[in-house]
Amino acid sequence: MKQQSQDTHVNQEVHRFAPETDREYKMLIDGEWVAASSNETFSCHDPYEDRAWGKVPAATSEDVDRAVQAARRAFDQDGWPQTSPTVRAGMLRKLGDLIEENAEELALIQIHENGKLLSEMLAGARALAGHARYVAGLAENIHGSTIHSHPGFTSYTVREAVGVIAAITPWNSPLTLLSWKLFPALAAGCTIVIKPSEVTPTSTLRLAELCQQAGFPKGVVNVVTGFGLPTGAALANHVGVDKIAFTGSTNGGKAMLAAAAPRIGRATLELGGKSPNIVFADADLDDAVHGVMGGIFAATGQSCMAGSRVLVEDSVYDEFAKRLAEAAAKLTLGDPLDPGVDVGPVACRNQFDKVLSYVEIGKAEGAHLLAGGVRDTSTPLTAGGLFVQPTIFTEVSNSSRLAQEEIFGPVASLIRFSNEDHAVQIANDADFGLAAAVWTRDVGLAHRMVKRVRAGTVWVNSYRVIHYAVPFGGFKQSGIGRELGAEALDDYMETKSVWINESNRQQFGRR
Ligand code: NAD
Repeated sequence: MKQQSQDTHVNQEVHRFAPETDREYKMLIDGEWVAASSNETFSCHDPYEDRAWGKVPAATSEDVDRAVQAARRAFDQDGWPQTSPTVRAGMLRKLGDLIEENAEELALIQIHENGKLLSEMLAGARALAGHARYVAGLAENIHGSTIHSHPGFTSYTVREAVGVIAAITPWNSPLTLLSWKLFPALAAGCTIVIKPSEVTPTSTLRLAELCQQAGFPKGVVNVVTGFGLPTGAALANHVGVDKIAFTGSTNGGKAMLAAAAPRIGRATLELGGKSPNIVFADADLDDAVHGVMGGIFAATGQSCMAGSRVLVEDSVYDEFAKRLAEAAAKLTLGDPLDPGVDVGPVACRNQFDKVLSYVEIGKAEGAHLLAGGVRDTSTPLTAGGLFVQPTIFTEVSNSSRLAQEEIFGPVASLIRFSNEDHAVQIANDADFGLAAAVWTRDVGLAHRMVKRVRAGTVWVNSYRVIHYAVPFGGFKQSGIGRELGAEALDDYMETKSVWINESNRQQFGRR
């Protein structure tokens, strides 16, 4: 591995925001910062330093009930959905300003929670501000349509807020993935109860403080902290919740649909992936090597859109694998706060154990371990943390568990294909359909692949680029609905059709 960067500037800055080890956090219910009714707490864990910090309320089902009741009151009685869109947009813009002012702090809190790199988390935190402003613009453009139907009638549609939203979020990009739900919900006039991941609760609490400062009234934004069971389940199953907005594992998504089913609750789901990153022989191989590495080793592979299945055309397969292994060996593992680091630690012990267990599964299935596959303790900077060396398996069969199951770690599976049809067949032979990429210089081939691959996002000669104006979501078991873009607002609104009888006379029963 490369030498650690000597740039200590950020490290010094960071200590201003280092988490207070003994701080007792409170959660936000009905405009008040409160402990859990049981007074029970749990701790966060810094995966780089491998140490526990903070005390966060473990919300009980009574706490969840109070939060949902508060959100219901704000929606049903206190008039939040009836506020002018301009007012809601103004608050979202103010929130954008506050996020921008506090972006560094928001990034650093998340890094202490999940160990992701400063470069990624800071860019993500800054993008939140732009996203809030973009969604403010959408709020000001909510409109229905007038429709020509039966003569003698005027018919039109109006858009109305869905109601109380339960937002249940994961740990890998806690604030980004929350903003994908929170901003459109607020723009549409919904109220919200957020249950952040137990791994990353405090960044969400800080964002909720900024929501208060931006002027969102009490009960409009609530946060309950705790584990999936009992806190998340109590929220998902609550009869007062109109819609669940969930990002997490596919199994979690199934639990959400089951929870919503008895009340025919709405649900949008952003779930897992096993995305194909497809390298054709005519591609610029150097570029493709970096694109493939960015797809699977950036964020330590803990990305829903990770390009974990690397499909490589037969004629360049061996050469590509060799170059990929050489480039991966040059990546720097270490302190997430060091701008010279490429790969941070795995976010938590469970995830670390899971990644290494898949290395054993891959070996047992007969795949060839070309690089990595072990814990990295090679430098003082990795010895204390939960680091896994960038891992590359070759000769992977697409039907193996290695190729079909989401690992959520820095493990690339290289699969051979012989031609375009074969690449399409392998790419689509998975339960997931979140993302894909095609590496080629042939424009026609790129367009054909974009049409043939079943995935919610397809990149050409790129990977992992997203923007708040471009919708994101999954085909197949990768999810239901779209977040980001103008489409995101649709999932937080109902359409009401209105019929005005211009004659004021009912015909039924008249002779
Ligand atoms: P997870 O499903 O374990 O947990 C997600 C959230 O659900 C957490 O807040 C958790 O506490 C809660 N939860 C878990 N079980 C629950 C239950 N029975 N009832 C209610 N709530 C419950 O997922 P994770 O490990 O936090 O995140 C990783 C997963 O998220 C990966 O599968 C990844 O692909 C997916 N993900 C998807 C996207 C996307 O946009 N498609 C983005 C990021 C992560």
